[in-house]
Amino acid sequence: MIELPQQLPPLQPIESDCLREHNVTLNVLRLDLMHPTLHGNKWFKLKHNLRQARDEGHHTLLSFGGAWSNHLRALAAAGNLFGFRTIGIVRGEIPQPLNPVLQFAHDQGMELVPMSRSDYRLHRNPAALAALEARYSDCYVLPEGGSNALAVRGCAELAGLLRWQTTGRPRVVGLACGTGATLAGLVWGLQQQIGRDAEPIEVVGVGVLKALGMLAEAVTRRLPAAVDIPWQILERYHGGGYARVTPELERFMTQFTARHAVPLEPVYSGKLMFGLLDQVRNGAIPVGSEVLALHSGGL
Ligand SMILES: *Cc1c(COP(=O)(O)O)cnc(C)c1O
Repeated sequence: MIELPQQLPPLQPIESDCLREHNVTLNVLRLDLMHPTLHGNKWFKLKHNLRQARDEGHHTLLSFGGAWSNHLRALAAAGNLFGFRTIGIVRGEIPQPLNPVLQFAHDQGMELVPMSRSDYRLHRNPAALAALEARYSDCYVLPEGGSNALAVRGCAELAGLLRWQTTGRPRVVGLACGTGATLAGLVWGLQQQIGRDAEPIEVVGVGVLKALGMLAEAVTRRLPAAVDIPWQILERYHGGGYARVTPELERFMTQFTARHAVPLEPVYSGKLMFGLLDQVRNGAIPVGSEVLALHSGGL
């Protein structure tokens, strides 16, 4: 049975003059504290894939990612927890000494295999996948980022974890988007709850990479059917691209972590909080809203 004993994610309030002026309540839902090794949104993305792999009799999980991939990190942890061999195909060279993400994956037992950038670009081709499956017989292959239909299904459960402190106010859920699979799952989960929730909810994704329009397109593609839940992806806060950091984001993170007991990293949670607070400041998030920011991990 593939199940994970998890803590209920703690809720941490954020207070600032700007929030007070706009009468906005902001809480951070700490999904990153739910489990010591398999945290954030990644357990939800992986769980049905792990079950599928087990049901199909696979003993090996194989996936792809860059040298800083939280997905490979989580897959390694899952393999260790549930007794799968794991193989991580790393784009480009494997840094020596290993960076903290790859070191963790290695310590969890993942076999790290470098793949040249030119081969990596073609890794989704059926012929390339068949070659990998032949080399590592009996493997269950997950796409880069772990974003497939089973991941979306798992992330729908996030809708049941949201906690609200007020009633009668517009509700906004904010989350960082890499591939958009987590957002698609959350929106799908909220769609299933329509009628049970008294208040209307809007989902706001902060895109962490430069890919104009592509994230929204990916989310639409990943949703199993049309939805009534309003959602959008903000494309203004990627700071130049995936894992790029502007001096402004750097300053924001330094100030934020000095004032609030919520750790941020620049790739996801930093851009998320920067984007949400900017949306409050410029009035795009309506005065009087209650905002819940999902801290998806990544530290
Ligand atoms: C993977 C990851 C995301 C992005 O999830 P997607 O489903 O790809 O949008 C967000 N935050 C953190 C911390 C992650 O590790």
